[in-house]
Amino acid sequence: MMSTSKFQEIGQILRDHQRFAILGHVRPDGDALGSQLALALSLQALGKEVRVWNEDGMLEKYSFLPRAELLTKPPSTPEDFDVAIALDTAIQNRLGTALVAIRSSKIWINIDHHPSNPGYGDVAHIDSSAPATAEIVFHLIKSQGLPFNRDIAENLYAAISTDTGSFQYPQTSAHTFEIAAELIRTGLDVGRLSQQLYENYPRRRLELLRELLRTMRFQQEGRVASFGLTLKTAAELGVLPEDNEGLIDHLRAVRGVIVAVFFEELSDGKVRVSMRSKSDTVDVCAICQKFGGGGHALAAGARVRGSLPEVEERVLAEIRAKIGSLKAAAPPMT
Ligand code: 5GP
Ligand code: MN
Repeated sequence: MMSTSKFQEIGQILRDHQRFAILGHVRPDGDALGSQLALALSLQALGKEVRVWNEDGMLEKYSFLPRAELLTKPPSTPEDFDVAIALDTAIQNRLGTALVAIRSSKIWINIDHHPSNPGYGDVAHIDSSAPATAEIVFHLIKSQGLPFNRDIAENLYAAISTDTGSFQYPQTSAHTFEIAAELIRTGLDVGRLSQQLYENYPRRRLELLRELLRTMRFQQEGRVASFGLTLKTAAELGVLPEDNEGLIDHLRAVRGVIVAVFFEELSDGKVRVSMRSKSDTVDVCAICQKFGGGGHALAAGARVRGSLPEVEERVLAEIRAKIGSLKAAAPPMT
């Protein structure tokens, strides 16, 4: 839950230093990018010198976010900082090249909502009850009286909206809506923002979905659904990595499905596994941790070495074992 003293400690560090790096996880989502920009804008307004780095740079689909140009790929020559802040990043090496670009930092701050976050850094504030890291950033800004304006609010709103599946996932609380209300009161246009977030996809994303649906498999009497993407298909369609964010929701949305999995062949000999659960009885973070990954109980991922078919079989076998052990307790839904 909210920890006032932690916010005070972090607030003090922010006020007392000048040079900041604000970082987020590789393959960023709306929460990582929106949280990074929001905190950066607040610190900038406070007169601080701020770098906002992400290994992947600003994604095309989030480039409408206010002041999106502030967020860049990290430079190849490392720099020195007073304070480096990791946002929404469960393990430090998921900062990727952004981590390498920090030659030194007097203080490391870690702000996140992933339960699997071990609390790395000098000051860690992990609140796994928050549905988005942006909620924690909002509280930090508000509790410490840091600068707050509409640009910051739009970034936070986009982050919270995307990480809660448009205010639908179970961790969405009355409190989440109260924060959203406060953000909207800055004058932001919900209709326009939602259109930019959810009704502005490139056509190739739908073409990708068509190919994924061709590979769709159901197992365990429809409790497990999966699909996969080869490098070859991705190249043929000309898709970007960011194009597949959220497509797994089509599998999760099917009646009877408890676990949805997306397998994506990567160019480094690994497979990116993305997993969702619809049931408290199946913790996909625990399953992904067996493969070196992590995340949340209902949304997790891993990068697993091996060919696409190999990784599919290993991961699906693990899920079948988990689902099989539940079967006696819960009859299949049809
Ligand atoms: P997604 O499936 O959307 O890529 O990720 C779902 C959740 O799992 C996110 O919260 C993300 O941080 C986490 N996650 C995804 N991939 C990995 C991974 O390779 N390692 C860890 N530790 N977490 C991951
Ligand atoms: Mn997040």
